[in-house]
Amino acid sequence: MSESYVIVGDGIAGSSAAEAIREEAPDVDVTVVTDEGEALYNRILIKEFAKGKLPEAPISIHEEDWYDDRDIDLRLNTLVTDVNPGTHTIETHDGDEISYDKLLVAAGGTPNQLPVENSDAEGVHHFWTFEDARRIREHAEEADTGVVVGAGLLGIDLAAICGGQDVDAKYLMRGNRWWRYALSEEGAEIIHDGLREKGVEPVFESGAGSFETNDDGEVVATIDGNGVRHESEFVGVAIGLDFNVEILQDTGVTIENGVHVDEYMRTEVEDVYAAGDITQFHDTILGERAQNGSWGSAKQQGNLAGRVMLEDAGHDVETEPFRWVSSYSITHFDFPFLSFGFPTLGDDEAERKYSDNEWRRLTFKDGKLIGGVLIGNLAPQSKYKQLIKDEAVVADQKDVLLQDNFDLEDLAIPQEQ
Ligand SMILES: Cc1cc2nc3c(=O)[nH]c(=O)nc-3n(C[C@H](O)[C@H](O)[C@H](O)COP(=O)(O)OP(=O)(O)OC[C@H]3O[C@@H](n4cnc5c(N)ncnc54)[C@H](O)[C@@H]3O)c2cc1C
Repeated sequence: MSESYVIVGDGIAGSSAAEAIREEAPDVDVTVVTDEGEALYNRILIKEFAKGKLPEAPISIHEEDWYDDRDIDLRLNTLVTDVNPGTHTIETHDGDEISYDKLLVAAGGTPNQLPVENSDAEGVHHFWTFEDARRIREHAEEADTGVVVGAGLLGIDLAAICGGQDVDAKYLMRGNRWWRYALSEEGAEIIHDGLREKGVEPVFESGAGSFETNDDGEVVATIDGNGVRHESEFVGVAIGLDFNVEILQDTGVTIENGVHVDEYMRTEVEDVYAAGDITQFHDTILGERAQNGSWGSAKQQGNLAGRVMLEDAGHDVETEPFRWVSSYSITHFDFPFLSFGFPTLGDDEAERKYSDNEWRRLTFKDGKLIGGVLIGNLAPQSKYKQLIKDEAVVADQKDVLLQDNFDLEDLAIPQEQ
């Protein structure tokens, strides 16, 4: 019997692992199990679909043929309910048991629901899947009023969808600005202006207190944290993810807001690996455990996990520890936006505004650059990423780093690095 590689999740992490395994090992069995009803699609682009800017076709990445052509057994609409490391099997919702020699859990996360009255009402949307995007698009096309809750990277997509679909929307934020953990008031103000230009009004120090529904159970209004009522036929909520770790409970892996893996995507349990958003991985740059919620990182981790699974099974595959500077861009406005590395961590920071729509913030830890946010001019991103990868001690040279057009050679980097 040939070796069996089983992957839970056909997102970018799971699919990249399947592809890597098949490329390196033509003869092993590869099975990909997903509870979604469609094969891998571009999760980054579903917001453009929901805005009404893109048709369905370009969002799909793999048709089912892609798996057939590679002799990968794709099981759609199949929820994995249990993992049994003792018997090396997984169980599915319909009672099937699948044996594995190596198992990858690339199950991502599920959006959190607001813990307030009527948060499950018809018309209150969460946003993670293509199915969600179809519902959101259809509803936003017909809604006149809306509310968005969640001042982060996914919330702003929902706000932009309201703007794109001419929904007269309020964006309720609990603090005094958008993404307050990564942006100062000065930087966030550029985003707020961008939102206003799209017809979306930020409402600060508010948040959602409860939702009002009509007799059909449809949401009609949002009562914010200050008791103010906002008409909202459409509501979008993006307040974070719960990672899909239930199937790994009691298996011996460490679960702590995600699954602990080392820099090779191995859990502590033999033959069980994890990759993508679900991981709390050992970050070789920070030198501590970290989490990324980005497409590029999930792709890299999936590819690495697939290769490491093969290597651990004795295949002749070379692998390198995960070392990646993640980035995440927003393209809703006239100006570009990019966050990179770990912009919400660190013990030191520096920022500068260059023009109405151009701003930069850098974060440092132990003297090293670890992340930042660029608005308006993304040109320096590759230099910053290089400095992060090099673990260069540069916090004492903030003036050079914040020059409009700085050169790596202008930095005095200590020799021992
Ligand atoms: C609207 C939106 C916009 C985004 N925009 C960006 C962006 O601009 N840039 C960026 O870098 N990132 C963006 N992201 C984040 C990015 O898409 C994720 O980081 C990435 O998709 C994570 O990939 P993954 O494979 O780890 O997890 P996922 O893509 O979540 O895939 C996990 C899969 O596993 C399935 N699954 C879960 N549990 C089970 C189970 N028990 N049994 C079977 N299947 C299961 C899930 O249904 C899902 O299909 C965005 C995300 C969303 C939702």
